[in-house]
Formats: sequence, structure tokens, C-alpha cells
Amino acid sequence: ASGYSLLRNPHHNKGLAFSEKERDSHYLRGLLPPAIVSHDLQVKKMMHNIRQYQLPLQKYMAMTDLQEMNERLFYKLLIENVEELLPVVYTPTVGEACQKYGSIFRRPQGLFISLKEKGKILEVLKNWPQRNIQVIVVTDGERILGLGDLGCQGMGIPVGKLSLYTALGGVRPSACLPITIDVGTNNEKLLEDEFYIGLRQKRATGQEYAELMHEFMSAVKQHYGEKVLIQFEDFANHNAFDLLAKYGTTHLVFNDDIQGTASVVLAGLIAAQKLVGGTLADHRFLFLGAGEAGTGIAELIALEISKQTNASLEEARKNIWLVDSKGLIVSSRKESLQHFKKPWAHEHEPIRNLTDAVNAIKPTVLIGTSGVGRTFTKEVVKSMASLNERPIILSLSNPTSQSECTAEEAYTWSQGRAIFASGSPFAPVQYEGKVFVPGQANNAYIFPGFGLGLIMSGTIRVHDDMLLAASEALAAQVTQENFDKGLIYPPFSNIRKISAHIAAEVAAKAYELGLATRLPQPENLVKYAESCMYSPAYRNYR
Ligand code: NAP
Ligand code: MN
Repeated sequence: ASGYSLLRNPHHNKGLAFSEKERDSHYLRGLLPPAIVSHDLQVKKMMHNIRQYQLPLQKYMAMTDLQEMNERLFYKLLIENVEELLPVVYTPTVGEACQKYGSIFRRPQGLFISLKEKGKILEVLKNWPQRNIQVIVVTDGERILGLGDLGCQGMGIPVGKLSLYTALGGVRPSACLPITIDVGTNNEKLLEDEFYIGLRQKRATGQEYAELMHEFMSAVKQHYGEKVLIQFEDFANHNAFDLLAKYGTTHLVFNDDIQGTASVVLAGLIAAQKLVGGTLADHRFLFLGAGEAGTGIAELIALEISKQTNASLEEARKNIWLVDSKGLIVSSRKESLQHFKKPWAHEHEPIRNLTDAVNAIKPTVLIGTSGVGRTFTKEVVKSMASLNERPIILSLSNPTSQSECTAEEAYTWSQGRAIFASGSPFAPVQYEGKVFVPGQANNAYIFPGFGLGLIMSGTIRVHDDMLLAASEALAAQVTQENFDKGLIYPPFSNIRKISAHIAAEVAAKAYELGLATRLPQPENLVKYAESCMYSPAYRNYR
């Protein structure tokens, strides 16, 4: 291969880091200026460049360009500056990027599978240059973050999530495949946008949708085998629950919006027990929002409690209550409820609003998963604080503007007693001379390590006990120093170590359940996880 094409291959390009010897042996003389710089200096220079940009979207585009130019530099940058760059390559900036995907589009990333490819999906998979795929993240673009239907432009999500799989979980970039399924969009603005890159039609539904998804799922298994992880991302909730139930028994599938969210929130609640004393079974939980996130979290909490206490799942569910857009979910509403809400329809008189529900249920834990901002009002937070010495309040809705309350409101209205975490990041808050650091219940804590654990053990099915294992592993990574600041999540700077521990616990559970195929089982799973992790260090070319 010529030196010229070497410089244009993102997997091999090192830019000015090519040594004198490499420049001689790989026909690079004259194609590069004389300076030779280290990988570290390249990182320093790129960070300097990125910090010059005012707009987050410009930073996002600079990162995308870098990924296309020099993959190892991209990952080294991301790994070493994870707290700063996570919001750039992922939420919230990735959301804006998806909204404008049509106009910022340069080179396509990932695979696009639309209704036009019906009957040919296996051939489409064969067009992808890599054969040894370990993780697929797939979306149909119908519910991108909190932004709604972005159709084909949802591709930013699988691309971003997989960058995190590599940076945070150490999965090789070449083993990652982002996919967008395009069945149309109901977003009128996009349908009229001359720059829209997707199919210009209303969403296919029902049998037509199911058939395309089924062809896709079958083709993936046929082409990549049984051990490829398929992560569903940002599907609308009716499809999300159905797909997970339908393919959970035949494929290695994981839904981050349902299961990943549940696992990361459960980890925070387990960790919070160190601050309040006692166990999860001592609590009463009230949710605002009974969708993918809310019911997914509720179900995993119930499962953890039932394991801890040997109670039945039905018994454990009784201490968990949910409010949706129509009020408290109660048994008198059972007939008209979507199936995923039915387990939560307990005996109670109907209650319309959250304040009344708080006063009636007297929760110790209040969790916001409604997508509607400012719903944890002063009255609600004050009630929580009068009912509990240390009320646990999680405002999980994204983006920041949709958070049920701000960190400042939670601490101020509870006189500094709330244990608070949120979906979107909040800056530390000063209240009466004390600094409170709010934790972020970011899914990125769990899914990269979770996926690594499945892959490294050759697991063929996801089991809920693996989610519990991941939660326990994350909670165990919170240190006394973190607790002292009010944190129930560890800092992101240690994320690769955290991921290795999560991966080890998930794999251990897979072996225990007989679902792992990589035999014999490695003796030290943490060490093994670390040894599997991708390093962005440059290789020497001879
Ligand atoms: P979803 O499936 O659409 O569910 C939203 C739920 O909220 C539905 O049950 C809906 O009621 C209810 N709701 C809407 N408006 C309400 C109101 N005014 N009062 C009470 N309930 C209301 O959405 P999702 O996927 O669960 O996501 C919900 C939120 O959680 C999003 O903002 C998302 O960003 C956030 N989230 C955070 C994390 C994290 O922190 N790691 C992870 C995932 C999601 P109906 O059922 O009656 O329509
Ligand atoms: Mn998501």
C-alpha cells in the first residue's frame, strides 16, 4: 500500500507520529512535514483545538472528523478526557447533531437498512467491511433521546453509543457496528426538509414493520452467529418492549433505555443505602412516569428486593407505585392499562396529581421518569423532606430543561437533606456553607462494562440476574470519599476500571447460569476483562 493511502486510512493513520523509520519504509517521505510528535502531544494539540470551538456542535463535528482521520487518536482523546468529551460525543450534543444530521452529513457512518433493502438484508450486512462483529447498536429513530422521531437521522445515536463501548468498555472499534433501520418517519418537518437523508414516507407499522425487523434479526444471527450482542436503542416504547420480549429468548439482546437505565438507577439506590442505613426492602418508591425507564427501573428494584428478602416478585412490587399522565396507577384502571403497567396497578383510590400521591403513599424514594420538567415542585420536595430524614430524589428526565427539579431545588427545598441524582449533569451546589455534588445516573456507567462482560464470556442470552450483578458491581465502586460529598455514583474518570469490574461480575453470573460459552472460565475475571480491553496506543509498523 502507498504512503498516501496509509495517511488516509483512519485505522492505521498516525499523522505526525510516524517515526523516521516508518516514514522510510512506508513511502511517507515528503507526504508529512519534518516534525515528529508523540501521541501525547497530538492529544494536547487536539484538545486545544476542540476547546477553541464555542458551539458544542462544532466540537462534535471536530470529533467526528478526527474519528474519520485517526481512530487511535480519537479514542485516546476520549479516554483521557472522558468527563469533558462525553457530553460532546454523546448526550446532550449528539441530540443536536441528530437533529441537523442531514446538513452536517459528510461521510456516512454505520449501516443504513431501509424498507428498500427488504429481502436483501443479509447482502447489506455483507457490504460492511468487518466480519468479526461483537456489538451492534441499532435504532429505528422513533424516540431519539427526549427529542422524538428523527427518522434516519437517528444514526448519530448508535455511532455515539459504540464510541462509548470502545472508549469506556474497551470493545475493539472494528468489532462495533452501528445500524439504523429506516421505516420512514412521522416527523413532518423532516419529511419536508430538502436535506433529509431518509425515506420520505410515513412510518411503516404492524406487520410490515415486524417483518423487516424479523428479517434483520435473522440475518444478523445468520451472518455473525449467536454471540453478537444486539443493543436496541431509542425505539418508541410500544416497539421497545415487544422487541425485547420477542427476541430475548432467541438472540443476545439488550435494551439500554429499559434495562441499562434500570441497572444504573438500581446501582445508585443500592449505594444510597450506605447513606441512609438499611436495605432496599425498607423503602417505599414512587415514580412520576411509567414508560420504558420508569417501569424498567421499578421491575429491577422489585427483582433485587425479592432476591434479598426471598419474597415473591408480586410481594416486592407492592412497595412500588407509579404515576403516569393520568395519575396514580391503580387497580380500578386495570382494563385500560398497557401491559407493562399492569403489574403496578395496586389497590388504592384514584389520585390525579403528584402532590396528593406523595402525601397518600408517603414514599421514601421519589423517581422522575416523565420527560416533563419542573414537576417536582417546591410542595412535592417539601413533602418528601417532611416525611423523611434523608429523602432520596432522582430527577432522571433529560435534557436538563426536562429535569423534574434542579439539584439546587432538591438541596434547598429539603434543607440539604436530600440524596439527589439526576439524568442530566448539574454543577455542585452550595447550601449553608456546605458543597453538595449531585451524581449523574448516566447509562454510560453500565452498558459498556455490561457488554464487555457478555462478549468476553461468549454469553448467548441476557438474564436479569446479570443486570443485578452489574448494579451491585457499580455500587461497590462508590468510595467513602464520594459518599462524603453526597455522591451515589463514582466519578467518571475511573470508568475503565469500573467497566472492568462490572464486566467481571456480569461474566461471573453468566458462567454461574451456564450461559457463557468461553471455556474454561478465566480464573481472575477482572484481570481477564482488563486484558481484553482495547488500547488506543499506536502500533509500530515495520
Ligand atoms: P416514555 O416511555 O415515553 O415514558 C414517559 C412516561 O411519563 C409515560 O408513562 C407518560 O405517561 C409519563 N408522563 C408524561 N407526562 C407526564 C406528566 N405530565 N405527568 C406524569 N406522567 C407523565 O419515556 P422513557 O423512555 O421512559 O423516558 C422518560 C424520561 O426518562 C426521558 O426524559 C428520558 O430522558 C429519561 N431517562 C433518563 C435516563 C437516565 O437518567 N439514565 C435513562 C433513560 C431515560 P403515559 O404512559 O400516560 O403516556
Ligand atoms: Mn437511549
